[in-house]
Amino acid sequence: MLLLTHVRPDGDAIGSLLAMGRGLSKMGKKVWLCNEGPIPAIFRFLPGIEEIVSEPGDLSRYDTVVTLDCSDLSRLGGVAEKVGRVPTLINIDHHITNTGFGSHQLVDSSASSTGEILYRLFGDLGIEIDEPMAYAIYTAIFTDTGSFLFQNTNPESYYICGRMVEKGVDAYNVAQNLFATYSLGRLKLLNMVLETIQISRNGKLSVMYLTQDMLRETDTLVDDINGLVNYAKHIEDVQVAVLIQESRRMPGVNHGTHFHVSLRSNGPVDVGNIALAYGGGGHPGAAAFTARSGLAEIKQEVFRISESL
Ligand code: 5GP
Ligand code: MN
Ligand code: MN
Repeated sequence: MLLLTHVRPDGDAIGSLLAMGRGLSKMGKKVWLCNEGPIPAIFRFLPGIEEIVSEPGDLSRYDTVVTLDCSDLSRLGGVAEKVGRVPTLINIDHHITNTGFGSHQLVDSSASSTGEILYRLFGDLGIEIDEPMAYAIYTAIFTDTGSFLFQNTNPESYYICGRMVEKGVDAYNVAQNLFATYSLGRLKLLNMVLETIQISRNGKLSVMYLTQDMLRETDTLVDDINGLVNYAKHIEDVQVAVLIQESRRMPGVNHGTHFHVSLRSNGPVDVGNIALAYGGGGHPGAAAFTARSGLAEIKQEVFRISESL
């Protein structure tokens, strides 16, 4: 079986991949864990992280593919066009914008995270959650709920994380690894990005941007910067926060410069719907899309969103 998750993996993607991999191994399944990567350094503390490979090899080797935390097939990256040939494609996810792809679906948009769905699945299948799986599930829930700060946090999120702590997770250590350890470069990058903040005329939308030059100058990787967009969300009166990130050119892939546009909502606005209109997707509170025009045009387009707020 081949287990896949989305490009630019977050804690739910990585945690779900590791938990599912170990759970299926316990059932006697032979599994390969794959993500195009790079895997953000903050996840290196997770047990089993070294088992994730960046290349799935020949897909005819697999009878089953499981996708985790992917709302549509394109989220898989380059492997997306090949998975159609594998007989069984199981889609496990919690995005409300999930397209329902695959031969089997386990999609629940009321779950805080894919990790939460897996916890229930392991219970149904009678798979005992051991300490490495507990770290993976805890990380999935802890990151996708923004350490229990986001609106998707539900009683199950607290309950499951409590159980995971009982199984051996050192919650303080996880929090230190994920949210409290920064290199000096990361703080300098934060400083640069904060300098770019602009607010729409009606005060309801904030925009920041991050360029490849900023990453070079601070010797940081974009994959290691999580939660940056939230700074723009904390400004009073702002309902929608936007971070426009210039994406890295992949060696050997000629797709030109493009931008990843992250959207965060601070209340009633459904940014998942906005992202969907631009060909992306996500959740009501957190969503994103890819834009291929220049930075100035994208900023102009984003400010247009503020007119309807
Ligand atoms: P982020 O802004 O952190 O990259 O993404 C926010 C949310 O939107 C995440 O739940 C993520 O899974 C989803 N998302 C990010 N990029 C894309 C994209 O290109 N397409 C779709 N459909 N969803 C995305
Ligand atoms: Mn994710
Ligand atoms: Mn998720």
